Amino acid sequence: MLQPPHQTLQAAATVPVQRTPAREDQAGPWHADAVCRRDEAGLFFAPSKEPTAARLSREQAAKRVCARCPVLVECREHALLMPEPYGVWGGLTAAERRVVLSRRRRATTPDPTDVPRIA
Ligand code: SF4
Repeated sequence: MLQPPHQTLQAAATVPVQRTPAREDQAGPWHADAVCRRDEAGLFFAPSKEPTAARLSREQAAKRVCARCPVLVECREHALLMPEPYGVWGGLTAAERRVVLSRRRRATTPDPTDVPRIA
């Protein structure tokens, strides 16, 4: 199973403070180049009961990290395909990923009212 470049909430609860990056052979090829392999600042996942202003500020900081990440596209696609329900992945928040997934579903779902006409 692919380990996220940064810690999930579940993983963060079980991993000691000193984190070690996943071995490259355990991860996807993009994982080794992730800028956020060590998320010491805790930017990518919300602590419990995080106030809205703090969440928005933290997410913007995480997105700035993502913006300089060489594997942003791969990370984002991973998060969309899994799908990852929490955290900032590939520069997108969970809510933003839900919007992208919804748009993709709509784009690939045939319109039932669009029946071909037979002349
Ligand atoms: S795009 Fe962001 S979340 Fe994904 S690996 Fe890079 S820094 Fe981490």
